[in-house]
Amino acid sequence: MKIFCVGRNYADHARELGNAVPEEPVIFMKPKSALLQSHTPFYYPEFCNELHYEAELVIRISKNGKYIQERHASQYYNAITVGIDFTARDLQNDLKSKGLPWEKAKAWDNSAVVGQWVEVTPGMQKKPFLFSMTKNDQTVQQGDSSNMIFSFEQVIANISTYFSVNIGDLIFTGTPAGVGECVVGDKLEGFLGEQRMFELEVK
Ligand code: ZN
Repeated sequence: MKIFCVGRNYADHARELGNAVPEEPVIFMKPKSALLQSHTPFYYPEFCNELHYEAELVIRISKNGKYIQERHASQYYNAITVGIDFTARDLQNDLKSKGLPWEKAKAWDNSAVVGQWVEVTPGMQKKPFLFSMTKNDQTVQQGDSSNMIFSFEQVIANISTYFSVNIGDLIFTGTPAGVGECVVGDKLEGFLGEQRMFELEVK
């Protein structure tokens, strides 16, 4: 199982971090060990002093493929949820400034959180997916898939140009504006529409 992530897929978030809006998807990966297993506590990593949440829509690949055309890509995912791409922002800024890879800041154990899965029907694919996250019961991020720079289908097509995609692979599709810091004791809850997908406490 592979975990793909899209960086800078919402213009308002690219701007808040001072990044240019990309011309093609920015893709990075997390290993399988990054996935927080359900009913496992999430611990603040000891190497980090500025932990950021990034709430994202996550889709799950349902068909093996390579060189998938955009017009066929909607057949390659069949489940969606909300997740968190946890980021050691202090470390990432340091690595970025040196032109080094991001893995230590993004791909560490348990840095990928996913909520419960919702089956995606073809009818659902025609409408935008709305999602949000609260921190200590206050809404901190709100997203709408129609504001993504690259759609799910464009992302799948782009990823599959470089990597085969396989059943069970996950794609974190990027975070909207409102990313921010969290500390030990914070409670984060993710919602798809009105439905709560996960609740997590930083320990
Ligand atoms: Zn992200």
